[in-house]
Amino acid sequence: MGSIAAASSEGKARTRSCATELICHRCDNHYPLEQPIFSCPDCGKGLDIAYDYELAARRFREIPGSERPENVWRFEELLPITDRHAQARTGQFAAYTPLIHADRLGAELGLSNLYIKDDSTSRPSLSYKDRVVAMSIARLLELGKREVGCVSTGNVGTAVAAMAAKAGVAAYVFYPDHLEDMKARACRALGAKVCQVQGNYDQANKACRQLAETTGLEFANITLRPFYAEGAKTAAFEIVEQLGWRSPDHIVSPAAGGTLSSRVHKGLVELQMLGAAQTDATKIHIAQPSGCNPIASAILAEEAEIRAVTPETAAHSLAIGAPGDGYLVIDAVLKRGGTGGFASDPEIFAGIDLLAATEGILTEPAGGTTIAVLEKLAAHGKLAPDDTVVAIITGNGLKTLDEHPAKPWPAKIECELDTMLAALEAFRHAGETPSPEYA
Ligand SMILES: *Cc1c(COP(=O)(O)O)cnc(C)c1O
Ligand SMILES: [Zn+2]
Repeated sequence: MGSIAAASSEGKARTRSCATELICHRCDNHYPLEQPIFSCPDCGKGLDIAYDYELAARRFREIPGSERPENVWRFEELLPITDRHAQARTGQFAAYTPLIHADRLGAELGLSNLYIKDDSTSRPSLSYKDRVVAMSIARLLELGKREVGCVSTGNVGTAVAAMAAKAGVAAYVFYPDHLEDMKARACRALGAKVCQVQGNYDQANKACRQLAETTGLEFANITLRPFYAEGAKTAAFEIVEQLGWRSPDHIVSPAAGGTLSSRVHKGLVELQMLGAAQTDATKIHIAQPSGCNPIASAILAEEAEIRAVTPETAAHSLAIGAPGDGYLVIDAVLKRGGTGGFASDPEIFAGIDLLAATEGILTEPAGGTTIAVLEKLAAHGKLAPDDTVVAIITGNGLKTLDEHPAKPWPAKIECELDTMLAALEAFRHAGETPSPEYA
């Protein structure tokens, strides 16, 4: 009998998650975690996940960092996945990205304690989206489903394609009109079914929501959204742990739909509640492209309401004109005394180049936006020279190189000593751009 009990409890092995239920912050409605809903039936707002924080505080202390996995499940007490089997099938190499002391970029900007949280190296898909999609896929498996859809500005699709493949489920990716071609191609190469729809992200998002409602197909970032969003908190947990359980003075985060920046705030609040770190003095600043800055402009105007915009920017992964979590971001930024900033497309590409030239990190336009805004915040005295500042670099530039304005490309030269000596001399004397003359 003992062995039967053991076997059946093993079949339902639970994680250490302390998640309790789904809640609506507006109506205070509560729903069981198992109920497959993603928005409040009364007010339509997105649902959040509630936790038993007393239990979480105890469980948090039971296992030292050295015994925790170095992946997105490291602090599973504060994540919403309860089925150990589902959890074990995804995200095993996701997140837990490096926090890099950016001394050379810092010297350039006059910041001696500048750090880069480098999600451009996340596995499997080289962006912050691995954190959130890991939750969606695990939830999908908890529900026993075998198909997943998503609507993507670029990186969600790649993450879904890769993680669905590893989990053995079918993936359908819907892209809007504008995105970097390499992202869609990577998706297809990873085995997802991909189609582009005529319209921008906000239009595609709306259509996918109807598709989900009509068919019952789960969408990683629509129907599974309450779970998806929780994954973004792991960036905050890691940053604070990597600084030795000290929360930074400032976090600079890019914002599109606003999930990352609002959940970094939630993660900081939770660490404080658990007694893991003092986090309430940390300011969150958000970065958006000038061509799509509905959240930043609301913050700068101190308005609570977001006015939707039609995006016009080369930073395609930040091109969300009607940000679903925008109101949460405004709340988080204003509560913490942070601010919003934006950068033009040329400033964004200059930001990419500056990060590359100083830190050897190649990022995409979202990362360039973060660096360009970081630069402005430093120049305007919002960041003191000794403050600890963490800039989150959310995506890898290898996927977007085709979009980077091309520098003059030198012609091929003869493979012969004298010509190559001339080329080397040209490198040494012509500054950073080799002149084409020697060819
Ligand atoms: C999705 C994305 C963001 C913005 O994320 P939100 O959570 O929607 O604000 C930032 N950078 C990159 C590279 C992304 O793919
Ligand atoms: Zn509600």
